[in-house]
Amino acid sequence: MTEQLSFLDEPQVGEFELPYGVEMQKCRSCGAPIIWITTEKGKAMPLDVAPLRRVGEKRYARSHFATCPDAATWRKTKSPR
Ligand SMILES: [Zn+2]
Repeated sequence: MTEQLSFLDEPQVGEFELPYGVEMQKCRSCGAPIIWITTEKGKAMPLDVAPLRRVGEKRYARSHFATCPDAATWRKTKSPR
């Protein structure tokens, strides 16, 4: 029997928990609003501000690396911060 969950309370692949009280910035490449977080490994990671997935009080967002139209260019260079 398979069960379909209406939402999952864990980050999915490519998703990260979006902390509260973090300043919104703009991607220097494409201008999209992003929020920088620090991953568990201590790496800076830009997250898309939208769409957000809300689960209770937690918010999950996709990595901007995955959606930035210019990611291929700025991945080779330094962090666009
Ligand atoms: Zn971008």
